[in-house]
Amino acid sequence: MDKLIEIDKITAAYGNKTVLKDVSLTVWKDDFLGIIGPNGGGKTTLLKVILGLLQPVSGAIRFYQNGVEVSSLRIGYLPQLNNIDRKFPISVWEVVASGLAAEKPRFRSYTAVQKERIEVVIRQMGLEDLYTRSIGELSGGQLQRVLLGRSIVSRPQLLILDEPTRGIDVGAKWEIYNIIIDLAKQGVGIILVSSEMEEIINLSDRILVMCEGQINGCLTKEEATQEKIMNLASEVQVCERTII
Ligand code: ADP
Repeated sequence: MDKLIEIDKITAAYGNKTVLKDVSLTVWKDDFLGIIGPNGGGKTTLLKVILGLLQPVSGAIRFYQNGVEVSSLRIGYLPQLNNIDRKFPISVWEVVASGLAAEKPRFRSYTAVQKERIEVVIRQMGLEDLYTRSIGELSGGQLQRVLLGRSIVSRPQLLILDEPTRGIDVGAKWEIYNIIIDLAKQGVGIILVSSEMEEIINLSDRILVMCEGQINGCLTKEEATQEKIMNLASEVQVCERTII
């Protein structure tokens, strides 16, 4: 199996508060990795380290492509919905297109190929009737699909989802799940952080339980039950573990 990311004994902190303690983890190509655990357990901080938004105090993070170490990967990121300013006057098309901004020459418009890619993604997200709609006029589920479109338009090798359906009603949740399942089938590696057990168990191929800045255990889809997850979440970490 091809490895995508190797996290090697990462310790991370905000100021003098240590929130990740010696965390080791391998993320595989085609992985669908769910991460669950109590609030404040360090899940978002681990994502920040992977995204390069937080520099670890110690340890190493290595990226791989076709078995060779590379300096970075294309990673799509869907942050928690409550971090988004919905008053910002920007349309559905513009938000999805902004996911390609880094590839666009400055002060030039998107190329025909990029515009075609944006159209494809808008259709894939089921947003074709909302192209010019301002994001402030969208429901939570529609907005989340717009942001998901932005995070995948650049064809990431890995997609990181932080509580993608928090605050979204059941019907809209399923629209998002189906898109995520399709992306996984297309070979995009996925890391899903969620506090919803059913979501994690139904979608992920393996499930990490994170608690107090450490990984308390890893379960496969077949082994995972709510009870086992609860037990792992309440287990006190006594020794360092490497999860592969
Ligand atoms: P989770 O995603 O599992 O809820 P987080 O990674 O968000 O956990 O938080 C882990 C710990 O780090 C918590 O105690 C939280 O209060 C703290 N924390 C998170 N972000 C910051 C920050 N920017 N500054 C200081 N402490 C933070």
